[in-house]
Amino acid sequence: MKRIYFDYAATTPLDSSVLRAMNPYFKEKFGNDGSLHSFGQAALAGIDAAREKIATALGLDILTGFREIIFTGSATEANNLALRATAREFRIRNPKSEIPRLIISAIEHESILETARDLEKKGIELVILPVDKKGHVDLKYLKNNLTENTALVSIMIANNEIGTIQPIKEISLIIKDFRGSKKFPLFHSDAVQAFQYLDCSPEKLDVDLLTLSAHKICGPKGVGALYVRSGIFPKSLPIIFGGGQEFGWRSGTENPALIVGFRKAIEMAAAIREKEKIRVAGLRNMFWRELKKIYPAAVLNNDFSSKGNSFLPNVLNVYFPDYSAEELVIKFDLAGMAVSAGSACSARAAKDSHVLAALGWPANRIKSSLRFSFGRLTTSQEIKEGAKIMKGILKS
Ligand code: PLP
Repeated sequence: MKRIYFDYAATTPLDSSVLRAMNPYFKEKFGNDGSLHSFGQAALAGIDAAREKIATALGLDILTGFREIIFTGSATEANNLALRATAREFRIRNPKSEIPRLIISAIEHESILETARDLEKKGIELVILPVDKKGHVDLKYLKNNLTENTALVSIMIANNEIGTIQPIKEISLIIKDFRGSKKFPLFHSDAVQAFQYLDCSPEKLDVDLLTLSAHKICGPKGVGALYVRSGIFPKSLPIIFGGGQEFGWRSGTENPALIVGFRKAIEMAAAIREKEKIRVAGLRNMFWRELKKIYPAAVLNNDFSSKGNSFLPNVLNVYFPDYSAEELVIKFDLAGMAVSAGSACSARAAKDSHVLAALGWPANRIKSSLRFSFGRLTTSQEIKEGAKIMKGILKS
């Protein structure tokens, strides 16, 4: 049976040219990039070039950009690092101040939410911004909650379950306006889902910290990056200690193959972004039209067609009133179509989606909602085959 993959928001297939770029670093160029001999230098050259090209793809300054990219083992780690380092820096700078405040949105990825909750247990004040029915953060609530003790605001560019795109530039202006000439609050944004379809240049968005992941953009799993604006931290504030790799930010021997693959994936995604955005949105629209024909009771949880809202082009989140999401995931999979009930993380923990809950949907709707996410290898033929599968399973 030919299988169809409609779960690109969970992870993406590795691009063949990314694999080709990585291959030499598994075998011939196996050296430790910290070694002075030629084996080490070959690995270091690959990492250095990747760091430089990723900085360029993000539109960073040619002189400072190189040191602003910190490679990590995942976006989860980059998000942990961003939140924990800022909390520490705030405490170092303000030893006598009130407890630091951290502001996040209610629909952040678990790697932000759970890190924030852990920091709250350690004495940080946590403020969670509500969102509207489409997932847009309440900017008034943000304004009203910016205080002298706010260390960090962390709001993702685009959501992984419903695809809502936040007005990051507007948010950074609010923060900048409040901050004036002071150092805090800093602004962090998770660009993991956005990078494939949106320009995520930290300079243009005016963010201080930005998280990226390779495996959501047809790169390898096990590598992420944190952009850290130069000058915001006078010294590195790692969460993993040891040999001082990554300018002291993240100890542990780097994996050149993954980092070189990450570079290739970033360059490819940036090069085809505008075309892909249009192509994938067309496929999403086609899938939704087919689904509505087959099962008219289907309701969008992310109404991408409504005016004044912006969503990623590749995510459809749909409520199926007569079914449980779990039942449909299994039936669709047995018939050859892979989709998901919310994020891969909530599926693993068998938890209801906190994102749909934040939109105000009741538990029965959440338990009957599925996420379809499309991407680089999705074709209109696959959309048609997917429709055929749904026709065989859903009652009209
Ligand atoms: N942030 C967002 C928005 C995500 O969608 C994900 C993955 O699902 C992550 C962070 C975590 O990425 P990683 O798997 O690289 O840890």
